[in-house]
Amino acid sequence: MTTQVPAILKDSADAPFRQGLVERRDLRPDDVRIDIAYAGICHSDIHTVREEWGPCIFPIVTGHEIAGVVSEIGSEVTKFKVGDHVGVGCLVDSCGECDYCVKGSENFCEKGAVGTYNSKNYDGEIAQGGYSQQIIVTERFVLRIPDAISLEVAAPLLCAGITLYTPLKRWGAGPGKKVAIVGMGGLGHMGVKIAAAMGADVTVISQTMSKEEDGRAFGAVDYRATEDGSVFKELRNSFDLIVCTVSADLPLDKYLGMVKPFGALVLVGLPEKPQNFQVFSLIMGDKVLTGSNIGGIPITQEMLDFCAEHDIAATVETISADEVDAAYDRVVASKVRYRFVIDTSTITPE
Ligand code: NAP
Ligand code: ZN
Repeated sequence: MTTQVPAILKDSADAPFRQGLVERRDLRPDDVRIDIAYAGICHSDIHTVREEWGPCIFPIVTGHEIAGVVSEIGSEVTKFKVGDHVGVGCLVDSCGECDYCVKGSENFCEKGAVGTYNSKNYDGEIAQGGYSQQIIVTERFVLRIPDAISLEVAAPLLCAGITLYTPLKRWGAGPGKKVAIVGMGGLGHMGVKIAAAMGADVTVISQTMSKEEDGRAFGAVDYRATEDGSVFKELRNSFDLIVCTVSADLPLDKYLGMVKPFGALVLVGLPEKPQNFQVFSLIMGDKVLTGSNIGGIPITQEMLDFCAEHDIAATVETISADEVDAAYDRVVASKVRYRFVIDTSTITPE
């Protein structure tokens, strides 16, 4: 029997969120039922429901930073038992057979990975996300949350954490490397903590100096603001790696100018519109301009274990179900410190 579960839904781009019920499928043999405790608010949730990236499937339950406790397992589940602390990120299924899936890059599945929301499951049902009290997910896409990290501050690791861990690892953040994180919001603040834990020398590049004290507390050794423009000259050819989390239009040539020869500028923020840059900015220094998409399941587990080992997690503001609209506006205004998480026990269907 399917179950009706309390959830926070949105019926159209303009409608406010409402508290109601969402249907969850019957438990299949390889499924895990998770009682969700907390769900993070990612800027991608906002881009999606405001249709900034294209049409959204309404009604929608967003949320792909999910932390909770296993409450039931299917007959063939081997990795989890009732009571385990677990998480779910941006993906809930993939073919499991293509080269990418086999190598743990399920995010690039040839059949097309199933997103946690605004996506269709392979059976045609619409996938609904984590602003809810329960979710059912095949065990391949369930992550183990180490005991050292409480669920409230673990939830944002499932998207913000992995989205920064992947490029920092791939592009060699570590001792002797100078790394800049552009934009200190949900993704950015995790980038500062993770890059510092990897041993890199971290600089934050923010719009203003207003969050300097926090940035330094998260592990940055330098903190700069772009508001007067002098930073681009002062930090010319300074960084082995810059990870940009901003979704607004940015002057990419100026950011490439701050990359050292042979270094990389990795974009993870997702602007609505096409971006421009001069090829000269790459060629004068053999620089790399690239992007990075979340991470597959093995590296997501590695990231969670890394965070536990280094005693890092998200810095959150916990909100109740009726505060989501206001929280979205604060994220858009860069006023979040540094990730909102919804306490899902506060959801009361109208
Ligand atoms: P967020 O919390 O809103 O953080 C973005 C930060 O960008 C803000 O805190 C702000 O930092 C800076 N910013 C905002 N407006 C700006 C502007 N006009 N000019 C310059 N800087 C500006 O968002 P998030 O949840 O971290 O997500 C960031 C982006 O990454 C979104 O586009 C999201 O969809 C995308 N994303 C991508 C992936 C992926 O796999 N690549 C995964 C998740 C999310 P300061 O206040 O410090 O300036
Ligand atoms: Zn996200």
